[in-house]
Amino acid sequence: MRKKMMAGNWKMNKSIGEVGSFFQSFSDECGLAKNRAVSDKVDILFAAPYLLLDSCRAAASGKGITIAAQNVHFEKNGAFTGEISLAMLAEIGIRSTLVGHSERRQYFGETNESVAKKAAAAQGAGFLTIVCIGETLAERNSSRTESVLEEQLAPVFSAVRGLTNIVIAYEPVWAIGTGVSASSDQAQTAHEFVRKQARARFGGSADMLRILYGGSANPNNIGELLSKPDIDGALVGGASLKPEEFASMVSAALKA
Ligand code: PEP
Repeated sequence: MRKKMMAGNWKMNKSIGEVGSFFQSFSDECGLAKNRAVSDKVDILFAAPYLLLDSCRAAASGKGITIAAQNVHFEKNGAFTGEISLAMLAEIGIRSTLVGHSERRQYFGETNESVAKKAAAAQGAGFLTIVCIGETLAERNSSRTESVLEEQLAPVFSAVRGLTNIVIAYEPVWAIGTGVSASSDQAQTAHEFVRKQARARFGGSADMLRILYGGSANPNNIGELLSKPDIDGALVGGASLKPEEFASMVSAALKA
């Protein structure tokens, strides 16, 4: 049985001043202080901008919420101006990260190979590593969804050591931030394909691999998405910025 995961991605939003009241409202809405069963049943994670990580960690402490980075460099240190290492994150108590978000691929030139290096380095450092993959609309419309997912996954699967601490987020690019979610059937088909790829490479451990859906997930569609057998949670952008919306998505995950 795979534990559900609800992960928020704040992208380049919020300020240090907003963090305290956000986590207070969110944990009140979810009943996190009173009800440990919430975090026993669903992993809750927020990927925040680097400068907010320390405040988020402090504000979320004791609430069963994991704070993650949105990106990390794969080298240990050196001449990489503007980059942040795994050791720097660990030093402030952060041990989880996203890698390969489509916005990193689209605007910052990340490639399947650099994403694979990041995934391997993060896993090697003991980080929970959420690897984002997904096709563009043009790729879907030309029936290339599966080949694109395979191209994105293959270098990652070659670089990592098994699936320990790896989570895959399937995020069709055309659904991110557009208000148009993939249908639950479209998402299930892609998730099933991802699991099949993982099984071909890693055998039975693929059955425990968590595969999150991302792309305009919201309180209205999350129940239907989570009803599918290979959808183990969601990576949520816009709706994770509002504590009450994300809390209601966590409630849906508790019922799924
Ligand atoms: C994301 O940023 O990963 C995402 C899925 O965004 P949104 O939920 O806003 O589509």
